Order: sequence, then structure tokens, then C-alpha cells
Amino acid sequence: MAAAAAGAAVAARRSIVAVVTGANQGIGFEIAVNLACSGATVVVCGRDRAKAAAAAEAVDARAASAAAAASAAATLVPARPLPLDIVDASSIAAAVAALGEWFGSAAGGHGVDVLVNNAGLAFKGDTFGADEARATMATNVFGTIAVTRALLPLLRHATAAAAAEGGDGSGARIINVCSQAGRLGQVSPTLQSRFQDPAATDATVTTLVREFVDAVAAGDYAAKGWPRSMYGVSKLAEIAWTYALAREVAADGIVVNACCPGYCATAMSSYHGSRTPADGADTPAWLALRERGAKTADLTGGFWYERRLMSW
Ligand code: NAP
Repeated sequence: MAAAAAGAAVAARRSIVAVVTGANQGIGFEIAVNLACSGATVVVCGRDRAKAAAAAEAVDARAASAAAAASAAATLVPARPLPLDIVDASSIAAAVAALGEWFGSAAGGHGVDVLVNNAGLAFKGDTFGADEARATMATNVFGTIAVTRALLPLLRHATAAAAAEGGDGSGARIINVCSQAGRLGQVSPTLQSRFQDPAATDATVTTLVREFVDAVAAGDYAAKGWPRSMYGVSKLAEIAWTYALAREVAADGIVVNACCPGYCATAMSSYHGSRTPADGADTPAWLALRERGAKTADLTGGFWYERRLMSW
């Protein structure tokens, strides 16, 4: 509820625009509900058009019933569904074009204030192989990077708009939903230093991830210092990339953070998690809504769990 309260203060100025990927179910859906309850204009992305539309309706219903239950509710803004498959370049281009038409400067809009990169993929059980490793990286790493790169102009526009509004100067926010499964210690010390390179870029992370896929294909991944975890390496790479992007866009005033939702009962975990998807949504939504001007609001390049900074 504290995140919602902070968000209400932000939204009192104007409704922030928040794009959530993979929001048709699970943690992403709950992030969308949390943000909508605070008065944000939430774009509910899903790779299936009908599922995204149904989820946006469900987000509105949940936000309306939360508002009815609360005595001091924020003004609600209807959620917008948006088809987006993060591994499909043409889908990304179409989604970004739609966002530009809705929120870009030509439409008199103020851009996109928040991007939550939540969409993710994990193969079940003991599945392990080169094709599966490639698919995992395509979604969790390359898809996340591609969506973010394509949205940066609209995020920069929101940052400039916020400054022009004479606010506290806080810029747009990017939140990457990662995992403690992406801990650095699972790879060899040599790989650790490469992932931690303070000069790392997209290319650094991309190269490392491709090396992992090649090593899985060749069967020598263990000798090369990699673990037997496609998901773990993908989330490790996503965290490394979060740090790299945070450094890159700091001068633009854009704040970038990674977080872990904890072990949540969703389709990904075959509903075995100990936490609810709403529990998992709390920290990513809090990172999106931290009140502008608050002491910790502009901390960038962190890895968060339960609203606390974690070591990697
Ligand atoms: P989930 O219920 O399976 O949801 C995953 C979402 O990602 C779905 O909306 C799915 O769409 C979407 N997605 C997958 N591939 C996509 C693509 N190519 N393009 C667009 N969307 C795509 O799982 P979840 O647990 O909520 O996972 C959300 C995030 O939390 C993931 O990044 C996951 O790694 C992370 N996480 C989860 C846990 C956990 O315990 N559940 C723990 C740590 C981190 P479809 O519905 O179309 O498949």
C-alpha cells in the first residue's frame, strides 16, 4: 500500500505512463494492477492480442474495486492493451509506433515514464540444451534489450517533459524483473570479472551470452566456467546489463534498476512458489512509483529484493 500511496502523490501531478511487458498474467499482471491503482496510465503488453485485451479489462476491474474499497482513491485511468512479442522485431516496432501515437510529442504526449521489463521465459524441470538456451537468451536478454532500446526515445521524452514541468528533475524509470537465480557466483571468477566490467555495454553482455550458448552446444560449458542453468545465466546477464544501462543513461536522468520478485506461484513456477504474484509485484511497482524527490528515488543501477538493495 505504501507504493500505491507514493504513486498517488506522483499521479497527483499527472498520470504517469507505465509500460509493463508480459502483463497478461502472473507477476506482470499484478504489477499492472498495482500501478493502475496509483492512477498511472498502464499499458498492458502481451504477446497474444486477446489475452492482453482481457488482462487490461481485468486490471481496470481490480483497480476499480480497490478504489471502491479505499476512502481516498486516486483518479483511475483505463489501462490500454498492447500486443508485444519481445522476440519479434516487427512486433516491437509496431508496439513502439503505437506508443508514439498515444504518448509521443507529435500527439502532445509526455512520453513513457516507466518501462517494466517483466516478460520472461523459463523451461520446466531439467530441460537443458543449445536450442533451449538460445530461446531463453532470446527472450530474457536480447528481447529485453531490444524493447528497451526501442523505447529509449519515449523514455527520454518523458524525462525532458518532467524537467520542463518544473518538478524535482526525476527522470523516467526502467525496472528489469530479474531473479536471485542470476547470482554472480554461479560462474567462474574469470566470467565474473567480465560480467562486472565497469565498461560493459550491450555488446559485452551479448558476447558473453553467445559464448554460453556455444558452450552448451559444444558440451564444454562446465569446463568454461558456466553453470548448468540457462535461466540462471539469462538472469545474471540481465542484471549485468541493468548495471551497464544504468551507467549509460545516468547522464540523461533515466533511472534503471533490477529486482527479484521472490519465488512466486505463477505459470513459470508451475504455481509452486511460496509468494503470491501480488507479493512479487510489490518491489517492481515500488521502484516504479517511489515518490519523485524522495531520498532513495533516484538510486540507479541497483538490484533490489523486498524494497532493499541486494548484493549480486
Ligand atoms: P509467467 O506467469 O509465466 O509470466 C511470464 C510472462 O512473460 C507472460 O505474460 C508471458 O506471456 C510473457 N512472455 C514470455 N515470453 C514472451 C515474449 N516473447 N514476448 C512477450 N511476452 C512474453 O511468469 P512470472 O513468474 O509472472 O514471471 C514474470 C517475471 O518474473 C519473469 O521475468 C521471471 O523470470 C521473473 N521471476 C519469476 C519468479 C517466480 O518465482 N515466478 C522468480 C524470479 C523471477 P504468455 O502468457 O503469452 O506466455
